Amino acid sequence: MPGPDPRSDADTGPGTCSGADTGPGTCSGADTGPGTCSGADTGPGTCSGADTGPGTCSDVDTGPGARSGADTGPGARSGPARVAVVGGGPGGLYAAALLKRQDPAREVTVWERNAPSDTFGFGVVLSDETLGGIRDADPVVYEALSRELVRWDDIDVVHRGHRTTSTGHGFAALGRRRLLELLHARCAELGVRLRFRTEAPPPAVLAATHDLVVAADGVHSRTREAHAAHFRPRITTHRCRYIWLAVDLAFEAFRFEIAETEHGVMQLHAYPFSRPSPDLPQALDSARTGETPSPSTRPPGPQNQSGSSTVIVEMREEVWRAAGFHELDEAESAARCAKVFAEALGGRELRSNHSAWTAFRTVTNARWSYGNTVLIGDAAHTAHFSIGSGTKLAVEDAVALAAAVGAHPALDEALTAYETERRPVVESTQRAADASLRWFEELAGHVDRPPRRFAFDLLTRSRRVTHANLRLRDPAFTAAVEEDFGCPPGTPPMFTPSGCAD
Ligand SMILES: Cc1cc2nc3c(=O)[nH]c(=O)nc-3n(C[C@H](O)[C@H](O)[C@H](O)COP(=O)(O)OP(=O)(O)OC[C@H]3O[C@@H](n4cnc5c(N)ncnc54)[C@H](O)[C@@H]3O)c2cc1C
Repeated sequence: MPGPDPRSDADTGPGTCSGADTGPGTCSGADTGPGTCSGADTGPGTCSGADTGPGTCSDVDTGPGARSGADTGPGARSGPARVAVVGGGPGGLYAAALLKRQDPAREVTVWERNAPSDTFGFGVVLSDETLGGIRDADPVVYEALSRELVRWDDIDVVHRGHRTTSTGHGFAALGRRRLLELLHARCAELGVRLRFRTEAPPPAVLAATHDLVVAADGVHSRTREAHAAHFRPRITTHRCRYIWLAVDLAFEAFRFEIAETEHGVMQLHAYPFSRPSPDLPQALDSARTGETPSPSTRPPGPQNQSGSSTVIVEMREEVWRAAGFHELDEAESAARCAKVFAEALGGRELRSNHSAWTAFRTVTNARWSYGNTVLIGDAAHTAHFSIGSGTKLAVEDAVALAAAVGAHPALDEALTAYETERRPVVESTQRAADASLRWFEELAGHVDRPPRRFAFDLLTRSRRVTHANLRLRDPAFTAAVEEDFGCPPGTPPMFTPSGCAD
């Protein structure tokens, strides 16, 4: 479940960040890092493996930073002239577009192993803060995105037949595929070379033949693994299994719903990502007008009869096994999930798209650059989907990297500046994501709480939305929670009973 739109600095979960960060969580499941190293770390600039890409290994500079923009002498280029981008996800594509826009003479190539239309996943949430960064970095992309975004304010928490709504959160989402299409178009317009259906050349080859290598190759980054001794990745696999699906209806709020089954607790996280079709009656089409009906006027059912929503189903591994999901294929899993959450989905089917049951992996790295190779996005760090920040972080990394390259002609200084700016933001987000995922891992321990108390706990789980912050967003909901606790309305959070205060 993505967190509501942060309206403050570095806040990717619900609300402005005033709460304490909860610190890194315990590592559950197998910890496969550091050193998930496939292939020798031969250092940037050295050549090993087949040369499948442009250039040859014959004129290899072997030191870290070889061919970097560190050359600032008279007549020297300012910044890298040849840039390789591994991975055409949101981070890689946006970095490519910004680096090309910064210097049209620069040669920028993106390698993407999939076809342009071949993307996994459905809708992703972007915050106002991220959109602001995109607007400042490239208004053309911002304008295109703005036309596509679905916006809404409410969160519905459905628990034992009660729907509790909290408002004032502010979300914006669009389909991952649409986001990539817009970025493909922008890259093509700027003159970026997009090499689809092409595996990137080995990391050492790219480092030897380019001035800058941007490793935007995702959570399973091969570049990171090739230089694992230097990046020192740590990968923590968590206790729940999730699957990323979609339904052909647009929820009018973010919806969190639990199902208490004979096998254990299962949860659904759902949010809209495409607008209802324009020929629908206006009454059904509030998303098109940009007006979100207030909770009291929205119908109790899910929603507009068109458009699409992301649906993520998640549960503890033991529940997943007991329910037999481990024996089901993609289509059978989607069908079973649709049955479990039939009421929320209005009886509709769930769509899959390269959907597989996965255990979330938190990725951290001790360093993000090595010589002329730099990690961005999921290759550098992940944050649990329940605070909806992975795309946001990848896009923000791209903005920061391009800005640093533009500001520092010496590549090593640029890469240091990039990491210095981004690391604190990313680590804070990862702490919030960790608190959020642990709350969901322990969901069975929360479900006996009364519905409103349950909703309050869910909304404040990452500590990014605090009691005081929730009061600013949604005074009516917060007053009702305070009343449940027996506090006079307006009681300062520090004087409310334990569990209610922030
Ligand atoms: C269930 C779920 C829900 C999510 N919801 C949200 C959300 O609501 N909001 C949000 O902001 N984020 C969300 N995310 C996170 C988001 O999907 C990722 O964090 C984001 O896509 C990371 O972008 P990236 O560019 O770093 O990597 P990716 O999007 O993973 O892109 C990496 C690309 O590199 C390519 N590649 C890798 N290796 C090679 C190679 N050797 N050669 C060629 N190509 C290669 C891959 O094919 C891929 O296209 C969610 C994630 C999950 C799992």
